[in-house]
Amino acid sequence: MCILCMGHTTAASIPGGAWRAAHAGDTPSQVLQEYNAGRLQRFDPSRAQPFTPGPAGTWVVINPPPATDGGERILTIDPPPWGAVTAYTENLAHAQTRALTDIGAPLPGHGRLAWQLPDGQAGANPILLKFDSSPVLNAPLRFQVQSLADYLQHDADWLTFATACFAAMLTMVLMALCFAVMLRDVIYAWYSGYIVCYALILGAETGFVFRPLGWHWLVDSVSMTHAAAVALSIAFAALFMIRFCELRHYAPIFRVPVLALAVGMIDLALLRISHVPILVDIADALFTPLVTLGASLLLLTALAAAVRGSRAAWLFFAGWVPLLLFTAANNAHLNGTWLTWNWPDETGLALGAFEAILLAIGLADRALTSRLDRDEVRALADHDALTDIFNRRAWTEHANAALTASTSRPMALLFLDLDHFKTLNDRLGHHAGDHALVAVAHALKAELRPRDLLGRYGGEEFVVLLDATSAEHAVEVGNRLRRRVHRLEIPAASDTSFLTLSIGIAMRQAVDSLQALVERADQAMYRAKSTGRNQVVMHEVGMLMRSDRPLLVERRNRTGDAPAKP
Ligand code: GH3
Ligand code: MG
Ligand code: MG
Repeated sequence: MCILCMGHTTAASIPGGAWRAAHAGDTPSQVLQEYNAGRLQRFDPSRAQPFTPGPAGTWVVINPPPATDGGERILTIDPPPWGAVTAYTENLAHAQTRALTDIGAPLPGHGRLAWQLPDGQAGANPILLKFDSSPVLNAPLRFQVQSLADYLQHDADWLTFATACFAAMLTMVLMALCFAVMLRDVIYAWYSGYIVCYALILGAETGFVFRPLGWHWLVDSVSMTHAAAVALSIAFAALFMIRFCELRHYAPIFRVPVLALAVGMIDLALLRISHVPILVDIADALFTPLVTLGASLLLLTALAAAVRGSRAAWLFFAGWVPLLLFTAANNAHLNGTWLTWNWPDETGLALGAFEAILLAIGLADRALTSRLDRDEVRALADHDALTDIFNRRAWTEHANAALTASTSRPMALLFLDLDHFKTLNDRLGHHAGDHALVAVAHALKAELRPRDLLGRYGGEEFVVLLDATSAEHAVEVGNRLRRRVHRLEIPAASDTSFLTLSIGIAMRQAVDSLQALVERADQAMYRAKSTGRNQVVMHEVGMLMRSDRPLLVERRNRTGDAPAKP
């Protein structure tokens, strides 16, 4: 919007204009006579003016303002109409024809048709313009007379702005195509198709494809290409919308009509490019009603999905509405009463770039949502549903990664098993058992450092991998955990004996697999069980090799209050 308001050069207002539909057999002098006799319909040339062409096009007469500085003056018409335009100047002595397809010749210029006015051309000497009829609806036209310097400045501004808008659209398209290939998600392809078609429509309507792009091979087929691009842009927009706005979920009733619209628009484009006269006639007859119907259907669908909570649909709606309003305003050729605002001639381009960027933001938002969903699913898959700590699979994955990350640091594995947990369950019920497991998991987590790896290994068994931890420190940690669980004072075997833990510890050897480490810690834990429970036992390799029995490190009495050395 800021760019739109920038860089508008001044133009002398044209005092008056008149027009009528052209019929076969009209001659320029006859039309000029009718004008002089006041028989033509008057209009204000400084406002965008829609004309209803006759079978041979339209005649327009305008009075250029008198030259003030004696310099060269340029008459411009924007947007460039589809048919050729002939300007008769100096009392019909000169006739020069310009067309969208040779825009910029002989004057340098882009996006507008321009004529250099002869020096003597003034108010009393009107300019007669003959617009050839064209199969494409012409947008309302604006006439301006500018000094050559202003014209060139305006032209440079327009070219910069148009290039920036096309570049923005095509950058988004390239990015989306990369995403379509990499993510194998067809929604990015629909988006690319839609924006490419829209850029092609704008390129044809502004003459950008001919100048500066120089696609002269398109000269003969520009109106056909334009029509096909309009139909395909709606088809791509419909396909894009089905997935982007999640119609299946937010507006299921519209899904089939929108899909039918996409198929219908593809058929319409095929008919239009078929080169079979009867099919092309059918396509031309159906074109305006179908395009209007399709655009309205997309608008209604976006609104319905947005109201039902689709954030993407709001974005689609926000991008689609200004485009539709602008297109509708441009095509309101019968009555221009609501065109009181003079659209800057860059509006269409700005809206195209705006929509491309807005929908790209929508796609980014969609990617973010699916990443968050994936993270959530991953978190759910990794965590134990009851205790919300790592489950056995996720713990194993992380523990394996930690073991392979460093082979030099000492690592300790603690295998924890609740004592007489079955009795607790039997006495107080499974519900109480579940509560106890949750309380124990929270207590263990609170006692450990964030980087210590805690997991639920099985029913009432937990595992902890302590990185960069010596054997002495691991025993200390084990005892801290043991005390902490005991302090929870969860009644276990009886109302007066609280839930306790038996812990086996194994230190990682140079070439140790996780499985071997867990097995040794498990053996140590069984040793802790068999020698009285509620204690920490360190597994020692040498000792195990000698006696196949792990070393008892520390034992507490049944209440866990006072330590008892073995
Ligand atoms: P020990 O001191 O020898 O370890 O005896 P224990 O009773 O703790 O061991 P045992 O292996 O005999 O029983 C474990 C019990 O843990 C049996 C099972 O019902 C219970 N358990 C396992 N998972 C859950 C669970 O998710 N919720 C509840 N409430 N109980 C569970
Ligand atoms: Mg057990
Ligand atoms: Mg147990």
